[in-house]
Amino acid sequence: MRWDGQSVAVDDGALPGLERIGLVRSVRTPQFEGITFHEVLCKSALNKIAGGGAMLPFNYTVNGYRGCSHACRYCFARPTHEYLELNCGNDFDSQIIVKTNVADVLRREVHRRSWRRETVALGTNTDPYQRAEGRYALMPGIIGALAESGTPLSILTKGTLLRRDLPLIADAAGQVPVSLAVSLAVGDAELHKQVEPGTASPQARLGLIAAIRDAGLDCHVMVAPVLPCLTDSVEQLDALLRQIASAGATGVTVFGLHLRGSTRGWFMSWLARTHPGLVGRYRELYRRGAYLPSSYRAELWARAAPLIAKYALGGDQRRFEAAPAHRVIEAPQPMLF
Ligand code: SF4
Repeated sequence: MRWDGQSVAVDDGALPGLERIGLVRSVRTPQFEGITFHEVLCKSALNKIAGGGAMLPFNYTVNGYRGCSHACRYCFARPTHEYLELNCGNDFDSQIIVKTNVADVLRREVHRRSWRRETVALGTNTDPYQRAEGRYALMPGIIGALAESGTPLSILTKGTLLRRDLPLIADAAGQVPVSLAVSLAVGDAELHKQVEPGTASPQARLGLIAAIRDAGLDCHVMVAPVLPCLTDSVEQLDALLRQIASAGATGVTVFGLHLRGSTRGWFMSWLARTHPGLVGRYRELYRRGAYLPSSYRAELWARAAPLIAKYALGGDQRRFEAAPAHRVIEAPQPMLF
């Protein structure tokens, strides 16, 4: 790892929440303008999800990062930054916690005799192929540790950096079951820049889907979250699903936005700035809580289902349908629609 040309502030005392989880040092580098990496040494890598098996197709997750420079306005993981005494808004996008030893710790954990080789999900909390991965390259070690130990794995990402690891992932798929999913729910280039400003463009993610298929692997696509009044028309869904099918995706899961905790305020302040005319409609839709009302979900399903059939994107829903895109820290969404 190259450290030249960087300013390094060791234990600057400004972040007591981070000190609590073992901050080693904080790093800023010209290649990642506006982002601070907080390097920590984790004590454990495998995270067991309380009650996961009943609602999700996996019980364990590994997350090498906390915070995500992909900066999606709707990101369900935002409130987790508050446990670190960082805010759920700009801090979540730019103060990235990096578990630099995660692969070594994971390797020890999955080689214990007591490890039962249950599926481990990567990308359930924050994106494993966010920009930081270009610098820290945690994923090759994580994938290698899981595959060597005979542990099945799944990966969910918006990051085109996954292309770097495709040969490794294809090798792993020869040893253990591997499931790959790309998240792509905003097809409009202008809206994408507003609502997912740190992510690769829709076209680049379509290219990633095609690259995954070219590597001989299945690729599920999470068309989630669908944003009411912004990406949910039949025409918008049709255009997006057509492109996803053309890229070679083997299946999709479609579901609408939910807004929980402090994510709600962050998203709504963005909506008020960019689409003030929609604020009233959103207030009405989410007046009862985090989830869209069943009437809206039924309408969305009525629009999406014929398109999923039209483009033969039914795929294997079981692996992904219960996993709200990237988020399993809090109670999962009980129904898709
Ligand atoms: S939704 Fe996923 S890609 Fe977007 S900021 Fe959250 S973790 Fe990152």
